[in-house]
Amino acid sequence: MSDSFIPISKPFIGDREKELVLDALNSGWVSSIGKYIDEFEAGFARYCGTEYALAVSNGTTGLHLALAALNLQPGDEVIVPDLTFVATANAVAYTGATPILADIDPATLCIDPVSVKSLISEKTRAIIPVHLYGHPADMDALTEIGATHGVDIIEDAAEAHGAEYRGRRVGGLGKCGVFSFYGNKIITTGEGGMLTTNDREFYQRAKRLRDHAMSPQRRYFHEERGFNYRITNLQAALGVAQLERIDEFLGRRAEIMDWYSSEIATTDHVRLNRVKNWAKSAFWMVCLEVDWFDEAKRDAFMLALKTRGIDSRPYFCTMSSMPMYKQSPLPVSARKAQTGLNLPSYYELSNREVQRIAADVNELLATVDPA
Ligand SMILES: *Cc1c(COP(=O)(O)O)cnc(C)c1O
Repeated sequence: MSDSFIPISKPFIGDREKELVLDALNSGWVSSIGKYIDEFEAGFARYCGTEYALAVSNGTTGLHLALAALNLQPGDEVIVPDLTFVATANAVAYTGATPILADIDPATLCIDPVSVKSLISEKTRAIIPVHLYGHPADMDALTEIGATHGVDIIEDAAEAHGAEYRGRRVGGLGKCGVFSFYGNKIITTGEGGMLTTNDREFYQRAKRLRDHAMSPQRRYFHEERGFNYRITNLQAALGVAQLERIDEFLGRRAEIMDWYSSEIATTDHVRLNRVKNWAKSAFWMVCLEVDWFDEAKRDAFMLALKTRGIDSRPYFCTMSSMPMYKQSPLPVSARKAQTGLNLPSYYELSNREVQRIAADVNELLATVDPA
């Protein structure tokens, strides 16, 4: 058995990836025009079951682009979960609108529709559920709130490629979905992102804004302030190759999750990812929660794993704990942020490595004083 250090995450780059990136390089189409961009967008739309997909430079710019396409203004409010990666809230703030923080569901770790409902105001323009760690948010409840109040839903699906809500792939469940292809996501283009939608007008507006909002009638004339949020053909070539294997990647992630579930001694107080019966998770991250952890115990546990050659990472910090979005803490989000952690999971992680990790987790948990 190998004693080498096990990272939390690792991209898989195979021969096909190299072949297509080399082909893109040799073609001379290295910037943001090229056949791989068209192929990647068409393939990703097909995969998500949406009419349109628009490739962008990363997930953060994708979120910003989506919100800009909704014409958000200062004074507008957008409801986001308190527990997420900071990009969700930042993208709202970039438009001048205000992110309003909602608490999360303790089982799914996704935005809690009851909390969302209590935060809806005259100023609310959008809700951004985040399919956190690969588990879809409760979209029906959110869609109903959105419809009642005339508020758009933008899925932050950056961590959830291929996840399903009641049998439907994420990305097409609201006004639009936004994905990330950062190096540690389900599939990668190095840096990159994708906006998915079934709304033709929204797609066209986002596409125009992605390219500096250049007038279709008059070159180099711009009727409003747009962005350069394009992806390159080189990145898209990598994306096309990765998309060919996405089912294999997701299948392996589910297997790894099964291995963890059978190897880690879970109890009512030591839990792994909880998946709702209406959900198919992408299992972007393996989540471990221990009821008797506080922040110090969680951090000590992670350090002990590290000395045994196993990487882990804490859950995200809450938005409400950060200087830019400071407010009083939301109880579920705060508790999860302080006590949850993620264990390694990636395509090439072997069953034996999972067994090694689980054995160390079990041993360390047995020595932790639950008092
Ligand atoms: C990764 C991530 C993003 C941002 O994606 P980038 O491609 O890194 O800009 C946004 N939201 C969530 C929830 C993410 O995990």
